[in-house]
Amino acid sequence: LPVVAIVGRPNVGKSTLFNRLVGKKLALVDDRPGVTRDRREGDATLIGLEFRIIDTAGFETDDAETLPGRMRAQTQAAVRDADVALFMVDARAGVMPLDEQVANWLRGEDTPIVLIANKAEGKSTESAVMEAYSLGLGDPVPLSAEHGEGLVDLFEAIRPYVERDEEEVEEGEEDEEASGPLKLAIVGRPNAGKSTLINKILGEQRLITGPEAGITRDSIAVDWTWNAPDGNAYPIRLIDTAGMRKRAKVQDKLEKLSVADGLRAVDFAEVVVLLLDATLGLEAQDLRIADKVLQEGRALIIALNKWDVAADPPKLFQGVRAALDEGLAQVRGLPLLTVSAETGRGIDQLLIAAHETREAWSKRVSTGQLNRWFERAIEANPPPAPGGRRIKLRYLTQARTRPPSFVLFGTRVDQLPESYRRYLVNGIRKELGFGAVPVRLTVRAPKN
Ligand code: GDP
Repeated sequence: LPVVAIVGRPNVGKSTLFNRLVGKKLALVDDRPGVTRDRREGDATLIGLEFRIIDTAGFETDDAETLPGRMRAQTQAAVRDADVALFMVDARAGVMPLDEQVANWLRGEDTPIVLIANKAEGKSTESAVMEAYSLGLGDPVPLSAEHGEGLVDLFEAIRPYVERDEEEVEEGEEDEEASGPLKLAIVGRPNAGKSTLINKILGEQRLITGPEAGITRDSIAVDWTWNAPDGNAYPIRLIDTAGMRKRAKVQDKLEKLSVADGLRAVDFAEVVVLLLDATLGLEAQDLRIADKVLQEGRALIIALNKWDVAADPPKLFQGVRAALDEGLAQVRGLPLLTVSAETGRGIDQLLIAAHETREAWSKRVSTGQLNRWFERAIEANPPPAPGGRRIKLRYLTQARTRPPSFVLFGTRVDQLPESYRRYLVNGIRKELGFGAVPVRLTVRAPKN
């Protein structure tokens, strides 16, 4: 991880910023002897940027006599280890002689310096922020570490120094997130062929060791290993479906009463397969199920079952494709596959698609890659100006994966029309490789 150091005289608010950036994660105290013994280090995140942060606040209880000497050693050691140093002054107190001294030491270092005017909440501190220019270290970034104001500006200031390589991001985080058994649920209307498909996938042997009929109304799961056509074995966890419980004929009728029951499995799944009966096509209830799955943020695949008895397959396929794209316009291009639960045809392709979809669903793009695309996107199609006042869009960051969730920062973003949000979401999905997984976008206006 890139390293960021926070330096400055005592009581300017270094530890407050440190704590804010490190959050609830435990800060590790570095106990190496020498000048580094007072520093605290922790893993920090700021609007999607990740870095290691060093806080040099440890000497603050020292007596005034020895303070400048120790501070200098401490500051220089931290700054030399860092990719960027945040030099913090107190905008309420103004520039003090000790600040000027620190500025002098820093000007002799090669590490880039970002000047922070902290405690700058409210308007009253504007003149002190201006005064900080006199330190000769560039534009001060006004911040309130305590109230969390100005973090977007801080992000902007340090981003050039701490942005990671895209390759690095991909390797680390994707593997971590998309590992473990693929959690798969199969849902659909009664008689779509769910039980038949599950029986075919698992084989008779599996079902014998499976859960007894009637013992469960809650979630159950079966773990198994798929011997994929690529020669690898993939663990899969098949989450509760009515089909797994289908044993006795009497029970059968009861089970088939409830689609909602099967939908409970959705909560525990990563990827959901919505099974359709090709002899019936896509109906309103299928769209409702699909919509529910997407609302839950799960990756969705549509499979047309009973393809072995489908009449006029090409026409049928086109018809379902069109109806899907119209009925679920927010995720145009959902994976649509054809299978026969009866013969087993298409099942491998279905499981391949399920794995690929999980990858997209778990994917993280770097803030840099995201914002390079974002800048082009808003240039090509600038946001509107309701009431003559332009909405200013500043940054986009991926806050979460599974499902991919993004946060948009800017001014008056709360007035952004739904059509423009859709434009951005579609762009993210198409151009940043998220395919047809549901993508979430929330907007946030910075507080400063
Ligand atoms: P569920 O309610 O979704 O679990 O559906 P079932 O698995 O009970 O299947 C309903 C009916 O469709 C049964 O009569 C199955 O034999 C039949 N069926 C399921 N899959 C296929 C298929 O791929 N091809 C054909 N021709 N029939 C199927």
